[in-house]
Amino acid sequence: MYNYDVIIVGAGTAGTYFSYLLGKRGLKVLVIDKDSEKNLAKRLDIFHFTTQSFARFNLPESKAGDPEFVSKFSYIYSRSALDNYEKKNFLEVHVMHLPLFIQRLRNKALKEGVEFRFSTEFKGLLYDDKQRINGIETKAEEKIRARLVVDASGIPSVVRTVVKDPYMENFPIGPRDKFYVFLKYVKLKDPKVKIDMSLSWPYYKGWIAPQQNKDGAIVGVGANISVDYARKCMKKFEDSIKLPEYTLQYEEWGATPYRRPPYSFVTDGFLVLGDAACLTQPMNGEGITSAWVQSTPAADIVAEALKDRKYPTKEALWPINVMYQTGEGAEFAGQRALLVGAVNMTKADNDYLYANGIIFKSDDEEVKGSVAGNLIKGVLKGKFTLAALRSLMRASGTGNKLTKHYKKYPTTPEGYLNWKKRADCLWKKAGSMADNVKDAEE
Ligand SMILES: Cc1cc2nc3c(=O)[nH]c(=O)nc-3n(C[C@H](O)[C@H](O)[C@H](O)COP(=O)(O)OP(=O)(O)OC[C@H]3O[C@@H](n4cnc5c(N)ncnc54)[C@H](O)[C@@H]3O)c2cc1C
Repeated sequence: MYNYDVIIVGAGTAGTYFSYLLGKRGLKVLVIDKDSEKNLAKRLDIFHFTTQSFARFNLPESKAGDPEFVSKFSYIYSRSALDNYEKKNFLEVHVMHLPLFIQRLRNKALKEGVEFRFSTEFKGLLYDDKQRINGIETKAEEKIRARLVVDASGIPSVVRTVVKDPYMENFPIGPRDKFYVFLKYVKLKDPKVKIDMSLSWPYYKGWIAPQQNKDGAIVGVGANISVDYARKCMKKFEDSIKLPEYTLQYEEWGATPYRRPPYSFVTDGFLVLGDAACLTQPMNGEGITSAWVQSTPAADIVAEALKDRKYPTKEALWPINVMYQTGEGAEFAGQRALLVGAVNMTKADNDYLYANGIIFKSDDEEVKGSVAGNLIKGVLKGKFTLAALRSLMRASGTGNKLTKHYKKYPTTPEGYLNWKKRADCLWKKAGSMADNVKDAEE
């Protein structure tokens, strides 16, 4: 009755990598994507990938000469709002072409027997006689039966948003829940200036980073609400910080989810992954590795849940929730709440944090005294505002509570609805990044 063990909707980094993991485990997998093979992932070119992720996710490292490889750097820098302080942290990062990287992942999946169908769009879910999900229908009205349906369709979350089940939140990812990323590919005017590492100004959510051309760079900004508002933030960023002089080559923009992930990633016969599950890093909106942190244990759990031709119930898939939410999920929930409070301050407040190694700290920096003590000292000396102190302490308190709550994620679906009630209360307290936007309409 089933055509496949698993059907994955979306052949981006999340869907393709997951299909490769499942193919390796001997499952019969189909990946569909609405885009043609030629146009897949063309919306973005250059992306960053921490070098240690190759080993972590068991992939051979990309090297000079590989089609996707552009360059590599070893440190990331960040600077304060008034540009007075700089922090330096060791992080090896690969700069690569995204469409070619996905192609490389796809070749690995194909070798494991995974099938791909392009220009094939998801239309709706199919159900068995017990009203359990058991496949999909495409826009071409083809019915494809699979025991597990996986949504890896990115921000549109085309499958998750139509699942009707108390264990699956089907919210759409709207403008308040996204970071619109606006990128300028530029050529630097001074040939002596080279951008060969990433430098960010978190206060403006702005940065400059390498691109494929050594005389060039990418200037970027992320902002909620709209692309127009991101353009406006770019202007504020460039009016405040003196970047190297450049001429514009072209612009690129995209969006990345910036909200808490759904509390559960699974229900009967269904799993959501990647951007469709809002799995992005709170600090920079990067999403590729977060999806894979979730996928790696998920592949084993799915293989076990499907063993002996079983139907994958939410009980069998539940360990995917537990493993992610008690690990990276707990850490990111705390960070996300903290950041809402940390961006809500003046430029001088932000400089004070940098000056004293609070939140922003170099690897070799020794900080004397506690965070709270140093912040209070700042208020007493008139260098840090009381409003910022309150906002930060409140955000940090809520962030700690969220982390603790996520670490107590229920081990079976029974405790979920009660756990969710408390989580809802804490997230309401935490607010969202979009609450800080006051000038989108000006
Ligand atoms: C400008 C920008 C820069 C970024 N830079 C980085 C970076 O440097 N490092 C990093 O880690 N992350 C980065 N990110 C985030 C990263 O790109 C995403 O987190 C990641 O690509 C998400 O992968 P995904 O597979 O979940 O979704 P997607 O890449 O969105 O893939 C989803 C796929 O589903 C398909 N699909 C959608 N609807 C349907 C449908 N109805 N039927 C069939 N198929 C469908 C789409 O065609 C698409 O191919 C960046 C994001 C932006 C916007």
